[in-house]
Amino acid sequence: MLQKKDCNGDAGSSSDPRAQNSFWKKVWSQEIPQKLIFFNWRAIHNSRPCKANLLKRKIVSDDACPICIVNSENLIHVVWSCPGAQKVWKKVRFMEVFKGLQLSTYGDFFEAATNYLSTFEMRLFVYMLELMER
Ligand SMILES: [Zn+2]
Repeated sequence: MLQKKDCNGDAGSSSDPRAQNSFWKKVWSQEIPQKLIFFNWRAIHNSRPCKANLLKRKIVSDDACPICIVNSENLIHVVWSCPGAQKVWKKVRFMEVFKGLQLSTYGDFFEAATNYLSTFEMRLFVYMLELMER
């Protein structure tokens, strides 16, 4: 279940309650420290302090990504579409897992990971996400 997005590209609710329930079970049942489960929950709800969110709250004056300069620093950009993030995923050999998938929200990215990565790889994936988002 890749989630529907609202007009801001944020994760929203699926029209299929069973798929939605299954998705949230995956989020809450990961064998990772609780702080990372909450990190995922907040990221899926687009409530992490990336510059695009800070700009919406008028905390910063621009949302340009400090790595590539040209794109808005929203969460999926930070952890996936930024050229800096792509280099990281290539180094750890996860790039092939996600190549060709339509990943427009953090929820899409997380769900793809739960579908294709082993339990061990999933732990590494979530730790890396948290580090990349800092
Ligand atoms: Zn960037």
